[in-house]
Amino acid sequence: MAPPLPPLAETVARHGLAARKALGQHFLLDATLCARIAALAAPLQGRHVLEVGPGPGGLTRALLDSPAAEVVAVELDRRAIAVLEELAGAYPGRLRIVEGDALKAETESLLPAPRKVVANLPYNVGTPLLIGWLREAARFESLTLMFQQEVAERIVAAPDTEHYGRLAVLSQWRCACRMALRLPPGAFSPPPKVWSAIVHLVPHPEAPDPALMAALEKVTAAAFGQRRKMLRSSLKSLGGAEALLAEAGIEGTRRAETLSVPEFDRLARIVLARG
Ligand code: SAM
Repeated sequence: MAPPLPPLAETVARHGLAARKALGQHFLLDATLCARIAALAAPLQGRHVLEVGPGPGGLTRALLDSPAAEVVAVELDRRAIAVLEELAGAYPGRLRIVEGDALKAETESLLPAPRKVVANLPYNVGTPLLIGWLREAARFESLTLMFQQEVAERIVAAPDTEHYGRLAVLSQWRCACRMALRLPPGAFSPPPKVWSAIVHLVPHPEAPDPALMAALEKVTAAAFGQRRKMLRSSLKSLGGAEALLAEAGIEGTRRAETLSVPEFDRLARIVLARG
C-alpha cells in the first residue's frame, strides 16, 4: 500500500526545484505515466533497481510502489537530495540515495543482483552511460531507458536505414533492443524541444570476452567514422583491411551501414585474434 505523499508538483514547488538545463532536467510529474514506465520494466519482484537521475522522484515513487526489493538512486543535483530523503522516509529500507555522478558510479558495488536499470536519463550523458552499461551488460537483467527519440532510434535501427550506426551495432550485439514507448515534449516539465522514447534492452545470456567488445568498438569506430566510404578504405586504420574483409567474407566495396551485426561480430573476432 503506497504511503500518502503530497502531489509531486507541490513537492517540487516547496523545495524550489526549478529545472536546470545544464543537468538535462525535464521532469515527469504525472503519476499515471510514471507507473506506466515502471511497468515496462516488469517483473520487478525482488529486483534491485538502479535509477539514474531520480530528480524530484516521480519515477522513483512508481518504482517504490512496485514489488522491487529496493531502489538505488544516483543523483548529481544536491537540491534533489532533500526531496529524495523525504521519499526514503516514506518507504523505510527501500530507497538508497547516492549523491554523485552516475558516469563515475561503480554499479556492481552499489547494488546486489538481480539488477535492473530504470531511468529517465539526462540527455547529455545518456549515450556514454549506455555504452558503459553495455560493457558490463551481464550484470543486468534488463535496462529500461528514456532517451531523446533520435537516440532511441539509433539504438534499435536495422541495417541500411537512416539511423543505423555504431550505437545500433554495439547495443544489438549485446542486447535484444525494443522501442517500448514514445513520449511527446508535453509529457515533461519543462517540455524538451524534441520527442523522447523508451528503449527496453535485455542482455543476451552469454557474456562475451571484454576484449571482444573492445575489438568491436574499434571496428565500428573505424567503419562508421567514415560511413560514406567503402570498407576497404574506412578500415585501413586497422591495418590489412583487404585481408581482414576477405577473411570475414565481406566485399571491400560495401559501406558500413550495410553490414549486419553478425558481420561486424566476424570482423571483431578476426581483429581480436590478430592481436
Ligand atoms: N527521473 C526524473 C524524472 O523523470 O522526472 C528526472 C529526469 S531528468 C531527465 C534527468 C535527471 O538526471 C536530473 O534529475 C539531473 O539532475 C540528473 N543528472 C544529470 N546528470 C547526472 C549525472 N551525471 N549523474 C546522475 N544524475 C544526473
